[in-house]
Amino acid sequence: MNHFVYKNGEFFCEEMAVADIARAVGTPFYLYSRATLSHHFQTFDSAFNGIDHLTCFAVKACSNLSILHLFAGLGGGADIVSGGELYRAITAGVNPQRIIYSGVGKTEAELRFGLESGILLFNVESAQELERLQRVAATMGVRAPVSFRVNPDVDPQTHAYISTGLAKNKFGVPIAEAFDLYIQARGMENIAIKGVSCHIGSQLTLISPFIESLRKVKDFVARLADAGIGIEYIDLGGGLGITYDDEQPPHPREYAEAIKAELEGTRATLILEPGRVLVGNAAILVTEVQYTKNNRGVDQEKKFVVVDAAMNDLARPSLYGAFHAIVPVREQGGAPEMVDIVGPICETGDFLAKDRALPPVQQGDLLAVLSAGAYGFSMSSNYNSRPRVAEVLVDGSHYTLIRRRETVEELVNGELLPKFAESGHGH
Ligand SMILES: *Cc1c(COP(=O)(O)O)cnc(C)c1O
Repeated sequence: MNHFVYKNGEFFCEEMAVADIARAVGTPFYLYSRATLSHHFQTFDSAFNGIDHLTCFAVKACSNLSILHLFAGLGGGADIVSGGELYRAITAGVNPQRIIYSGVGKTEAELRFGLESGILLFNVESAQELERLQRVAATMGVRAPVSFRVNPDVDPQTHAYISTGLAKNKFGVPIAEAFDLYIQARGMENIAIKGVSCHIGSQLTLISPFIESLRKVKDFVARLADAGIGIEYIDLGGGLGITYDDEQPPHPREYAEAIKAELEGTRATLILEPGRVLVGNAAILVTEVQYTKNNRGVDQEKKFVVVDAAMNDLARPSLYGAFHAIVPVREQGGAPEMVDIVGPICETGDFLAKDRALPPVQQGDLLAVLSAGAYGFSMSSNYNSRPRVAEVLVDGSHYTLIRRRETVEELVNGELLPKFAESGHGH
């Protein structure tokens, strides 16, 4: 459920006409619905009522401070994958005891930052990371709380780029080897074993892969218990999919019921790391048509709608061939035409949609790219020296800018001209 709907032919976000906001802030911009964000968080989190659990929002899906702050206010934690995300989570007011740190390549400085911040858990992904964490914790005179991210070798049946729980993926420790790591960790003075974690991929539309990995994790936890190693946390990761087009992912309640049933009799606290499912359908990307053009070839004609948003603003179509529905902000009559909706970037791969049926549009019309809240702004870049776009949050009949549009001056911030002599030609 979300709060983006047409009212009398005008596209609205909650009680605000999208076109009014566009007039005020300019295009392109990301537009988030606060009601949708809260609703999604509460639906997901409350589905696990009845068992001890912690919902840690995967910050990489959408890392704006206001959104992290909103989830923190609803009792959420954060799943982070870098020192930068840790800084964001803390700045947004997330309780460090609800922060878990995932990722294959944590640097020494990042491990130290996590320890200084007093986070709940490090999801360790290799023997070398464990050794480094022990060393850093020892120099600080603290004990590092640790889960190992195991790789359950389960096929999530999703896009190859976003599957992470197969043996061939770089993530986690194979379950067969993880046991030795726990034994090793038990002998380390500055390591406190807390849990087992896994995360098998993103945009999953089936429950069975989650349950299959949970079973493997449960068996593994039982094996650890036999060796006298107790586990307080079982972390199932994120990955629940959403509807972009015609996908039919399970409702969070079905997902939660299946997990709760599988966890019957287990004492550990469940940790979840949802990203996409909380934010994906809670935002749109609003863009303005700049030009329309027809390129006629020998045997075909191709229609292009050139808009002011591009692959640097929303990478998913170019990166994964991902589908985003695109609708006019003012409902249009006329027979739909097949068009490519493309940005201004000098790459053939710069498109938001290909061969898409769109009612006829003209220069100056606004389009809404739907389901853009997850891996939208957070993946955006400055490629082609394009300032990053504004982010706006709607709450009922009000809106607030939660990130102002970057300026061209900010683009070159931090860049330095070389201090060579003026005449120097490199000699
Ligand atoms: C990306 C990621 C998530 C979130 O995945 P979604 O598909 O957005 O729910 C959770 N945990 C880890 C470790 C991740 O890398």
